Amino acid sequence: MNDCIFCKIANHEIPGKIIYEDDVCLAFLDLSQTTRGHTLVIPKKHFDHFLDVDQDTLAYLIQTSQNVAKTLENKLQAQGFNIITNMNEVAGQTVKHFHIHIIPRYQTNDDFHIQYTDHSNDVNLDEIYNCIMNS
Ligand code: AMP
Ligand code: ZN
Repeated sequence: MNDCIFCKIANHEIPGKIIYEDDVCLAFLDLSQTTRGHTLVIPKKHFDHFLDVDQDTLAYLIQTSQNVAKTLENKLQAQGFNIITNMNEVAGQTVKHFHIHIIPRYQTNDDFHIQYTDHSNDVNLDEIYNCIMNS
């Protein structure tokens, strides 16, 4: 946990372009800048990922993310957003300190892509539903 890079940013041990900060959380520019203004919102307290965060903190982080998005909409004229959190390596998480990506969008044909492949012809929805709903 001491090696956690986002803990270090939260503790001001390493620099970050922090655009919002309070007692619970902070928002800073993602180094990659997938799109202009790409921002990460993190709790100051370390949680590994989405399922570990207590619900009060999670609710607060989502509210903060909305405020950050409003700021980016106003200041950078973002036309829309993708709000994403990756959980675990299998989902692409590379930094094991919970974070919410705020990804501003300006045009549909930029180089950020989320692809929802259509498998509707290959799957049995009843089987999946029953798997989830049956004890
Ligand atoms: P994820 O792949 O969801 O874990 O996202 C981690 C993100 O953290 C990536 O988009 C990186 O570009 C970003 N990142 C890693 N180190 C830093 C850093 N020191 N400052 C800002 N962003 C960072
Ligand atoms: Zn951490």
